[in-house]
Amino acid sequence: MLIRKAFKYRLDTTVETEQLMSQYAGNCRFLWNKALALNLHHLDNKEPLLWYQELDWFSKLWKQSDDYGFLALSPAQTLQQTLKQLERAFRDAFDKTQPLKQIPTFKKRGDRDSFTFPQGFKIEGKRIFLPKIGWVNFRKSRDIVGTAKNVTVSRQGKHWFVSIQVEIELPEPIHPSPAMVGVDMGVKRLFTLSDGDFEEPVEVKVWQDKIKRLQKRLAKKVKFSNNWRKLKDKINRLHTKIANIRCDILHKLSTTLSKSHAVIVLEDLQITNMTKSAKGDWENPGRMVKQKSGLNRVILNQGWGMFKTFLEYKQQWLGGQVLYVDPRHTSQTCPDCHHVRKDNRQTQERFACVVCGHVEHADVVGAKNILERGHRLLACGEPWVAKLCEAGTGKLSDKLEPVTV
Ligand SMILES: [Zn+2]
Repeated sequence: MLIRKAFKYRLDTTVETEQLMSQYAGNCRFLWNKALALNLHHLDNKEPLLWYQELDWFSKLWKQSDDYGFLALSPAQTLQQTLKQLERAFRDAFDKTQPLKQIPTFKKRGDRDSFTFPQGFKIEGKRIFLPKIGWVNFRKSRDIVGTAKNVTVSRQGKHWFVSIQVEIELPEPIHPSPAMVGVDMGVKRLFTLSDGDFEEPVEVKVWQDKIKRLQKRLAKKVKFSNNWRKLKDKINRLHTKIANIRCDILHKLSTTLSKSHAVIVLEDLQITNMTKSAKGDWENPGRMVKQKSGLNRVILNQGWGMFKTFLEYKQQWLGGQVLYVDPRHTSQTCPDCHHVRKDNRQTQERFACVVCGHVEHADVVGAKNILERGHRLLACGEPWVAKLCEAGTGKLSDKLEPVTV
């Protein structure tokens, strides 16, 4: 099995190298925005999108023009890479199997500043050679394994980093555990397992409250003044902090879950549908709009999409599987006698079967039903049970970019 992995290190830059890096990142951003604007214009006019080849042709024209000649100062491959990334972003946005992906957006100065070299770089010990920049030292915290395929230079805060993406050939893994588990994703609980275990939601309210307070103060400041900028910086740092906390916890939880279960069964919830529309769902059409809006926020906060992605690629690494099953009535079906009735679920937390009297926490019931549907899917592939996670589709590598949130 060929896997891709990224090693990220902080670069030791000088004033000169930083200047070049800023310039190259800026040119990539400029080209991204320009090509994006062109494609958005096409979309508006219902014309077909321009793909890499056409965009590259435009980019060559721009480089020769008086107005945009500065693009020619950049290493050509970093510009080509930007256009490939844009093409990829558009393809993902229109890919029905990736409901979380959206139409690419314009980049602002300082926002995701980066550029990528697919070739021409060299790595020797603790230094890396970057075309048109030269040798730059980096802080090697761990050894690089595998064959380097490309390197991305990016700015985070005041510092520049290099992320080296490698390919490693590994023997086909056999999952260390034979266990299978159903996972009920929730609101009060982050998730509940079919064996009764559960996790509390990721707690970031303290930081969110702090951000709210700072935003109120920000509103009173003169826009773009020094104090305004300082406050704005502080708010941005808090947002990053929240994202990091969340990402960290979801990484830990998904690792534990993945290591101890060969098969993880989840509900096939179209997260974007659930979060975008508060009009109701299959069990309560058009009702509970208010609760649902609150629910939406919480779902987003907890980063279900991120959690799913983590589970999928970790399972693939370990030789396990993620299955998706039909989510209908999972919380209203009795795990003992299979009787389905709304009355079975008495409150948010309490499940009591009106036929056989089975009593259990409603979320555990949900997780058990999800697990059972997973078993049925494996046994006979029942058509009503939704799609199987497509392991080994080559899409995996994209999900292994260093996590930026
Ligand atoms: Zn029952």
